[in-house]
Amino acid sequence: MIHPTPRLRFAPSPTGPLHLGGARTAMYNWAAARALGGKFLLRIEDTDQARSSDASLQIILTGLKWLGIDWDEGPEKGGDFGPYFQMQRLPLYRAAADRLLASGHAYPCYCTPEEIDAGRKAMEEQKAGFAGYNRRCRNLTAAERSAFEAQGRKPNLRFKMPEARVLQVHDLVRGDVEVNTKELDDWVMLRPDGVPLYNFACVVDDIGMAITHVVRGEEHFLNGIKQRLLFEALGAECPQYAHIPLILNKEGKKLSKRDADTNMLDYRDKGFPPEAVFNYIALLGWGFSGDRDVFTRDEMVAVFQIGNIGKAGARFDEEKLRWMCGEYVRRWTPAQCLERARPWLSRVVPEAAFSSHAAWLRNVVGCYQERITILSEFTDKIGWLFAELPTLDEAAQKNLAKEPASKDWLRGYAEVLEKGNLPPSWPADRTAADAVVALPSKKDAAAPTCAFATPAQIEQECRAFTERIGVKFGNFVHPVRAALTGTDKGPGLFDVIFLLGREACVRRLRAAAAR
Ligand code: GLU
Repeated sequence: MIHPTPRLRFAPSPTGPLHLGGARTAMYNWAAARALGGKFLLRIEDTDQARSSDASLQIILTGLKWLGIDWDEGPEKGGDFGPYFQMQRLPLYRAAADRLLASGHAYPCYCTPEEIDAGRKAMEEQKAGFAGYNRRCRNLTAAERSAFEAQGRKPNLRFKMPEARVLQVHDLVRGDVEVNTKELDDWVMLRPDGVPLYNFACVVDDIGMAITHVVRGEEHFLNGIKQRLLFEALGAECPQYAHIPLILNKEGKKLSKRDADTNMLDYRDKGFPPEAVFNYIALLGWGFSGDRDVFTRDEMVAVFQIGNIGKAGARFDEEKLRWMCGEYVRRWTPAQCLERARPWLSRVVPEAAFSSHAAWLRNVVGCYQERITILSEFTDKIGWLFAELPTLDEAAQKNLAKEPASKDWLRGYAEVLEKGNLPPSWPADRTAADAVVALPSKKDAAAPTCAFATPAQIEQECRAFTERIGVKFGNFVHPVRAALTGTDKGPGLFDVIFLLGREACVRRLRAAAAR
């Protein structure tokens, strides 16, 4: 009987990090469980003991949590259907194997790897069409078995594939599919040491954990056929399967390490906002109704249906992922962005500044929200604010060298700013300026009343100065920006001047003029 509550699982093998494909599989199972009002559980398929590690498990769990994919049962949570680690379930596999032996659906196979190989080669030579295990041990007599046992051979347990037949299966993604079982081997279920192989453990656990739906990669489609037959042999109902297409690269080829980070935590460490990564991964094979690309987890869950997962291979495109990140970063308030970006800001901003200069940092961050996509970009982008003098990049050097007269402009402008009413420079307290003026300045916003010159006033004074000295405003701003920031890109120039404050501006303009 199918369990009345929908129950879905993600069943990672802890043999490596959580990668993009795994994250997507987990997400679709999670979303379906949430959408159906069911349970989502984690099962750890750790039977490959040589390759499984606790380190990988921790990376997988951390990756899921980072993406906001929570589970109801499994590691760290427990649950009524445990244990959730396959290596803790060995007695259950043994018991199922005994049932299958008793019912004639399984048999012990004493063949050595060499014998199996030789058998396969012989089949190949006979061109029998299908070359796999030659089923030598399928019909051994009791005496033959005893003879092998007496030689000290320890048997693998094989599943006795039923007579070849054409199966009509329904896959929630692929639709109705016809499969001929004649090409399927008598596969190994259990090794002599009692450790199960994937297909066997998977079915015993899907039954034991009352799984109702399975979403997984299409590489498991044929496994799904073997599993259906095993469910049948065990007298259990098979979950509804959905086998989803691979994630391809931009060119439509298999995704490789060059196309994407293989560890979800690398995205975390580079400051990709997890909700943006979640949103992007959701779109790798599934679409929100209409042409809406940006949505929250809750919005996804409200409309998610397994049947709406696409049949075509989704393509991973890092540019689109970054675009998505930018969409999220821009929607935050500067205060939220400051909070989120703190780990990357901390690489250049002294720790104390987060409390003493919170308003200033909000303004700094606010100026960049439109200009970055991932938070690690902050580290490189805001260093100029803290240096005694900025390091001039190539573009800045060019802009300073272009007009021979520009050194005089800089000297003159330094004087204007020195006499003007700019806010003080970091590390002096600037709260009176930053708590009142919110950056980036918006042209249409009402002018705040501030004890210091606002960016709009600084601009007015600057224009007046360029008129006085007879220099085109458009030419004037380039060397000034270069002198102040060391580069030719960044926030609006008058926001820059406001952020830097009087002493820093004057010092930088004079240093550039003296070069
Ligand atoms: N451990 C298997 C994998 O990672 C699980 C496949 C399944 O969901 O059945 O591919």
